Amino acid sequence: MLTEEIQHMSDQYVMNTYNRLPLSIVRGQGCHVYDAEGRSYLDCVGGIAVNTLGYSHPDLVTSIERQARHLLHTSNLFYTEPQAELAHCLVEHSFADKVFFCNSGAEANEAAIKLARKYSHDHFGPNRSEILTMVNSFHGRTMATLSATGQTKVQHGFEPLVPGFTSVPFNDIDSLEAKISDQTAAIMIEPILGEGGVIEADTAYLKALRDLCTARNILLIFDEVQTGIGRTGTLFAYEQFRVQPDIMTLAKGLGGGIPIGACLATENIAQAFTYGTHGSTFGGNPLACTVARQILRILLEGGELERCQERGTYLRKGLLSLQEQFSFIKDVRGRGLLQGIELSIDGKPIVMGCLAHRVIINCTMGRVLRFIPPLIITQAEIDVLLATLEKVFLKQREA
Ligand SMILES: *Cc1c(COP(=O)(O)O)cnc(C)c1O
Repeated sequence: MLTEEIQHMSDQYVMNTYNRLPLSIVRGQGCHVYDAEGRSYLDCVGGIAVNTLGYSHPDLVTSIERQARHLLHTSNLFYTEPQAELAHCLVEHSFADKVFFCNSGAEANEAAIKLARKYSHDHFGPNRSEILTMVNSFHGRTMATLSATGQTKVQHGFEPLVPGFTSVPFNDIDSLEAKISDQTAAIMIEPILGEGGVIEADTAYLKALRDLCTARNILLIFDEVQTGIGRTGTLFAYEQFRVQPDIMTLAKGLGGGIPIGACLATENIAQAFTYGTHGSTFGGNPLACTVARQILRILLEGGELERCQERGTYLRKGLLSLQEQFSFIKDVRGRGLLQGIELSIDGKPIVMGCLAHRVIINCTMGRVLRFIPPLIITQAEIDVLLATLEKVFLKQREA
């Protein structure tokens, strides 16, 4: 089918929840995707920070084929080796002692919210369930996670919201302290706001959060659904801030395109989940776990994370030099291969301009261009992105 036919059929039969670009992707290779007409595009969005190793990575294809021949799915009525091994690997490389598996970022956050509430309930009784979150955060689209999300545009029309969430301004310790009470069970935060416009937490702020949480027996939850799995140049973003959470959620890049989510916690907290308190039919599925394990193996081997860090630095330098050239670039920010440019103009024409040059980029919060390419992006590909941005910016300036 050609793009137009696919688009037409989709619009007719799929619920209209997405604002899609007029492009139908058929296949991908490395950092490139191909549309229904065979045109190739450099993809600097990577399935929204999902395609960690790009498209059709040979090791992942082999893992998927092999696992499909062995066992696609069983259930959590049984043990499987891929699930045990992935949990072991995540624990070995993080602050955590235990993992709960699910299928998406929202589900990982649901698990974190349930775990924090249950822990607080078990240790401090029933009236201590409040979770503080951040203004402009994003935690997902289920009822609990949209209630946790600090953006009214995500909540509008879905009231009544799940009670027990209050959002406070990001990077503002006084506002946060003012909202902490005897009812506070947890604080939930993204170390870098992703959907909220690529805004980094201050290290001092996160350290102060950690101290407050420790002093008052409040759980600190890091939503690393977007920042985790090498995205910022370390396996998890919290490593760079040198602040450890009590609970952390992962999804997006963890499966490299196979749906998987995870909620990690320290032993003492994980114990609040006992038999029957939480579960998922697909959670920890052997196919998803095999692929995630393979991705971690590749990232943790032979200096790959250091190379991601270098690619991020290279991209950032390029974006900073564009900032010197164009006054409508207000800010360049982010870490590793999660970079953003805040514009003083609308971002959509820039996204469309890049697309016309066969480069896919993303815009969030209306004016923040976001770059979240596969971690395997090459220097030459980053050069193509930068040259394209320059062309599109030049044209914008003339307009
Ligand atoms: C994308 C995202 C989510 C939601 O993940 P889904 O897999 O879409 O449910 C939650 N938190 C953060 C920080 C995200 O970026």
